[in-house]
Amino acid sequence: MALTAMDIYKVLPQTNCGDCGVPTCLAFAMKLAQGQASLDACPHVTDEAAQALSGSAAPPMKTVTIGTGEKALEIGGQTVLFRHEETFYHPCGIAIQVNTSLPQDEMTERIATACAMAFDRVGMTFGLDLIALCDDDGSLAQKAAVAAEVSSLPLVLMSDDVAAMKGALEVCAGGRPLICAATAANFEEMTSLAKQFNCPLVIRGENLEQLYELSEQAIDAGLEDLVMDSSARDISSALQDQTIIRRAAIKDKVKAFGFPTLGFAVGDDEIGKITSGCELIAKYAGILVTDLITRDALLSLVTARLNIYTDPQKPIQVESGVYEVGEPDASSPVLITTNFSLTYYTVEADTSASDRAAWIVVVDTEGTSVLTAWAAEDFTTETIAKTIRECGIEDKVEHRNAVIPGGVAVLSGELEEESGWHIVVGPRESAGIPAFFKTKYAERIA
Ligand code: SF4
Repeated sequence: MALTAMDIYKVLPQTNCGDCGVPTCLAFAMKLAQGQASLDACPHVTDEAAQALSGSAAPPMKTVTIGTGEKALEIGGQTVLFRHEETFYHPCGIAIQVNTSLPQDEMTERIATACAMAFDRVGMTFGLDLIALCDDDGSLAQKAAVAAEVSSLPLVLMSDDVAAMKGALEVCAGGRPLICAATAANFEEMTSLAKQFNCPLVIRGENLEQLYELSEQAIDAGLEDLVMDSSARDISSALQDQTIIRRAAIKDKVKAFGFPTLGFAVGDDEIGKITSGCELIAKYAGILVTDLITRDALLSLVTARLNIYTDPQKPIQVESGVYEVGEPDASSPVLITTNFSLTYYTVEADTSASDRAAWIVVVDTEGTSVLTAWAAEDFTTETIAKTIRECGIEDKVEHRNAVIPGGVAVLSGELEEESGWHIVVGPRESAGIPAFFKTKYAERIA
């Protein structure tokens, strides 16, 4: 029977030292009881307590590491079904499928391209995570050595053939690749390889029932780093299986399903693959394997992942302060906005598109957009005037004209009094900035 928070609290040190990242032992016990923390986070727990709590205090889904070093990928470790309940940890790894039948120079070029691909979104840079080497011509053992040499990303070795997998592991097991996959037909041999080479293993069942049985057998065999694959490949059955596995793991604490999952972006064309890929990122793949390779298609997946794995309680923010667009000087316009990353980077991009150098003054609104911040009274005459005074913009320009978003035009009068600046009402949408600079800015400044 699951332990209550109070049962867990009784065996914790009760010193409230906060070293676990939670202010009190009781708060930590509550997180443990809800499966939202791992007992490892408390460095002071005694061996007896650890033993008493083992199982009950374990997170409902294992965190599995693929690869080694700074490019190692952690997946799983989820504690909730819905991101608004807590957040999703360990973003879904995107694995680029590369077939072994490709001519070697094409194969190495594809791997190198995937490894080098980088996407800038709202001030952060994202890349791809894994190379899934798919044995479609029986040459996995030979090609694994080449792939390991070229790839800076961890590998997923995809073959049901035990001899091919063994040959591949003999040359690249040091990089801790993901073995994909153990099935009912090769279960004993593949689980032995996973043990022998100390690598994580995909368990593939023909359906959820078989997946459950194989997972139980793998756990009994002492394997801990497992990834689940129910074999569902069409979009609706994949969604159904992913949801059942996640619910069983999180809500019902079914240990055999308490592992991250693998999914495939399938479809008749690029749009179909993007659609199924985004679906699996949302619910609930730990790894998404795709043969998409164009930058635009992969940007869709990376963006979907960013949206799903952003902590909804902590909006992505930029620092409050003064930012330059182009090479502004003392006569350049000054635009005011909030520190929600998406807002700031949209304003920055639209200002760049105007071909006009400018200063952007960013007000700390705890990462909310202009109208949200205004409604919450975080984007007020006081906070804007304070930022203008303290950010250093008054030393950078010789004029005193500041452009505020058109959506908060109502602030202009009071803000002039509060800041001492002439307030110019800009466009309601930042997309209007280029036209605003061309046609309205000059006539509205003081
Ligand atoms: S680290 Fe351990 S002892 Fe310290 S507050 Fe957390 S649970 Fe309590």
